[in-house]
Amino acid sequence: MSEIRVRIAPSPSGFLHVGVARTAIINWLYARKLGGQFILRVEDTDAARSSKEMVKSIIDSLTWLGIDWDEGPIFQSERTEIYQQYIDQLLESGNAYRCFCTSEELAAKRENAREKKLDYRYDRTCLNLSAEAIQKKLDDGTPNVIRVKVPEGETAYDDMVYGRMVKQNKDIEDFVVCRSDRSPLYNFVVVVDDYEMGITDVIRGNDHQTNTFKQILIYSALSLPVPRFGHLPLIFNQSKKKISKRDKAANASDYGNEGFLPEAVFNYLTLLGWSSKDDREVYTVAELTEAFSITGVGKANAMFDFVKMSHFNGEHIKLKSNHDLALMVAPLLIEADVSTKYGLETRWHYLMDVIGLLKDRATVIEHFVERGGYFFKPPTEYDPKGVKKQFIPENADRLETLADRFEALEPFTHDGLETTLKGMAEELELKTGQLIHPVRLSVTGMTTGPSLYDLLELMGREETATRMRVAARYIREKV
Ligand code: GLU
Repeated sequence: MSEIRVRIAPSPSGFLHVGVARTAIINWLYARKLGGQFILRVEDTDAARSSKEMVKSIIDSLTWLGIDWDEGPIFQSERTEIYQQYIDQLLESGNAYRCFCTSEELAAKRENAREKKLDYRYDRTCLNLSAEAIQKKLDDGTPNVIRVKVPEGETAYDDMVYGRMVKQNKDIEDFVVCRSDRSPLYNFVVVVDDYEMGITDVIRGNDHQTNTFKQILIYSALSLPVPRFGHLPLIFNQSKKKISKRDKAANASDYGNEGFLPEAVFNYLTLLGWSSKDDREVYTVAELTEAFSITGVGKANAMFDFVKMSHFNGEHIKLKSNHDLALMVAPLLIEADVSTKYGLETRWHYLMDVIGLLKDRATVIEHFVERGGYFFKPPTEYDPKGVKKQFIPENADRLETLADRFEALEPFTHDGLETTLKGMAEELELKTGQLIHPVRLSVTGMTTGPSLYDLLELMGREETATRMRVAARYIREKV
């Protein structure tokens, strides 16, 4: 086993965000490929914005994606005492100081800088307070925050994705790591946790770049070893903006309800940021684990596209067995009132064959219901455009005659059906399509679908003939 230890640290203030899902996947692949450990840490220090329901939802969504963890979930809210020890250490070392400036004073300074068109940075008023002055304020119960004393010079690190990153420390103000109510802030807590948990590699979204410099400053202030950092390109929406909570794509917990397979989502999200040298797209999770390398992570921001994800989904649908798909489709057919549990259990092979027939063109699981309901229930209506074109008066007789011939057909197979239909078209001097389309509309209510002969063979003689006669009657009465 390698020494690699990575983590995912979601904040349970919402559902599993697509960016966090992608970060989780990349960390998981990294750990699995290198034989390392993957840890789940829940960043729930913001009690007002965190909830148990969200923790459960995030855990369920990660599990749905096929992600497992070797340690955790570890909850930050249970680790307050640990953070306090490190805050004390930071103060004792002189690398942090108490700041008693009130928010009004700070706001006035900020406003002043804005008027003068200067960049605002905290002016270190409290850095130079004497020990006595500090003690007096503490004795008086004056509220204070704790700021890191940012040293002179620069902060630099080698990003696993972006290469050498450097920031001048003069551009970083003495930032707050602990509020006046003694609660520590994100950057501080992350450093303590990552150190305490032995995290060797911190891989997360590029929106954390600025935090990384501050975190490195905290590592040095606490004299702790700095882990490796790797930042992942951001995921944008179609308007080229960072995906926000308002975007439909934001909530990865919802993809399953929209007919996406977890392995397709896993595959698609991995490729939003990572690619192999040969630009191959479709991978199973096992294949991704094998092929993954952090060097394949690109720098360019990626764009989330439901159409593209549907394409991946279609490819993964093809990789699944008819039986596995049937297990997913059956409850949807029951929910749509197309069939019953008993009806499907007793015709499981028929369901698998239906799935086999529709599988090539389905890109979401719902397609099996939308495009295959007629295999279980006769159509209750016909596509109106199709009716206009195909249900012309002369087709009533044609459908009936063809129904008679189909009924007499032995065996009732693709080839026999084709010969019969083509034979009749020839007799009547019609194009094959002039019979195919009305038959399809009669039997399915739709104008498109899988090969007509295949679907008729599967549906069976009796059902096919009955539906064609019903359509003939419909043409006589209604058209
Ligand atoms: N809770 C942070 C987030 O979800 C974690 C950032 C980190 O990985 O350090 O963005």
